[in-house]
Amino acid sequence: MSEEIILKTENLHKIYAQDTPMEVHALRGIDIEVKKGEMVAIMGPSGCGKTTLLNLLGGIDEPTKGQIFISGQDINELTDIEVTQFRLKNIGYIFQLFNLFEFLNALENTVLPLFLTDASRFEAEEEAKMMLRQMGLGDKINHLPNELSGGEQQRVAVSRALLMNPAIILGDEPTGDLDQDTSTEIMNLFVSINENYNQTFLVVTHSEYIASFCHRIIRIVDGEIINLGGKGD
Ligand code: ADP
Ligand code: MG
Repeated sequence: MSEEIILKTENLHKIYAQDTPMEVHALRGIDIEVKKGEMVAIMGPSGCGKTTLLNLLGGIDEPTKGQIFISGQDINELTDIEVTQFRLKNIGYIFQLFNLFEFLNALENTVLPLFLTDASRFEAEEEAKMMLRQMGLGDKINHLPNELSGGEQQRVAVSRALLMNPAIILGDEPTGDLDQDTSTEIMNLFVSINENYNQTFLVVTHSEYIASFCHRIIRIVDGEIINLGGKGD
């Protein structure tokens, strides 16, 4: 693991519906640092702010206060268009299931983000095919999502995320809809990608078992990081 810091947040706050009766202070001063090649789990009870945090890290939503640096770039300093480009190049996303386009086959789903870059169509498809083969889906490239198992669909999502060679892959409950064996398979895949490519991961999960595949755990309660000592330090 290198000392290069891929992700850093400083005093991150998110307040929804500020100054209204519905105000929710979802994040209350989150400071995290993730080094290149780390695999970090984010855990905490439902409603503690996990998805809010990932949305801010991914540039999907903006913090009320605080800063986010990804590969040293302060996200707040970018314009809307620049954030979109930055996300595309630097951040891979893997959600729970059902984030593939149901009318597109495995290859088309994988290649999609590359079409938003200046890669040629031919090169993009060749790269996507290579990635799908590496993920053990070489014989499934023409299958639609509903012709793939849950684990296979998630491997398509992983292929799509990896293809852009992102600085970090963010997963929001990436195994939340999978059975135990398939969850294990996907987490082992993350571990091998982490080990082989030094790929950095930040994975939100409810499950101590899923978190146990990661190097360390960040625990959040009511929008704040708590320190239990031990592995979570
Ligand atoms: P988690 O992913 O840990 O379950 P969330 O980040 O989704 O938690 O939610 C954190 C808190 O913020 C919750 O109280 C939730 O109701 C609230 N919240 C989330 N999104 C919104 C929103 N768009 N508008 C208002 N409140 C929200
Ligand atoms: Mg959530």
